[in-house]
Amino acid sequence: MLDAGLPVRAFFTARAGGASALPYGTLNVATHVGDAPEAVARNRAAVSVLAGAPVSFLNAEHGIRVAEVTRPGEEPAVADVLVTRTPGVALGAIAADCMPILMHDAVTGAVAAIHSGREGVRRGAVDAAVAALLDMRTPQQRRRRDGLAASIGPAICGRCYEVPAAMREEVAHRHPTARSATGAGTPALDLPRAAETRLGELGFAAVVRHRVCTYEDERYFSHRRDGVTGRHAGVIVCGVSVR
Ligand SMILES: [Zn+2]
Repeated sequence: MLDAGLPVRAFFTARAGGASALPYGTLNVATHVGDAPEAVARNRAAVSVLAGAPVSFLNAEHGIRVAEVTRPGEEPAVADVLVTRTPGVALGAIAADCMPILMHDAVTGAVAAIHSGREGVRRGAVDAAVAALLDMRTPQQRRRRDGLAASIGPAICGRCYEVPAAMREEVAHRHPTARSATGAGTPALDLPRAAETRLGELGFAAVVRHRVCTYEDERYFSHRRDGVTGRHAGVIVCGVSVR
């Protein structure tokens, strides 16, 4: 478990500590990857124990739809961004190479969990999450951008995420800092760097970026490395201050 470094309880899980067998070994929290449902249920329960609250895990569609969770443990609608302002609600973003991103707004206490891969960066999943958090402020509070903090979790890095040249150009046109290259010099995308840049542009004074590459670090799930595999999670709990 990796501390997200935010003012409320928030962390990123890894592969270890779960009930799943290979190729999902062992703490897979995704229901859509072919793992045994009983094992996923046990893993999700274990992550909820760590969170101290039943985690609502998002069901991603590689889009920018936002869903608000209003009750602890509620099954959210299909969306890549979950938000809540209800104390005791825990949100979980699942990923394996894509970025799990967690956000906290100190002004309202609201939190967000985001799943963002290439499509999320291209289409603006971070922007959608910030808009949802700002919607929860009063008009007067909305004029300022202080109090926003974010944490970018383990994800495939800019040296490993090789893509076709046209795809790199399409994303880099909108997000110049996403432009990257592999060690061999072929086109690549640096999604965590693009997200960090965008968060800065949106007024985030505090951005934690965990420089852990899921493709290189076998403690994490990597879809590109392993194909059929599990998913780890970024989890954030509303209303539980830790700093
Ligand atoms: Zn890497």
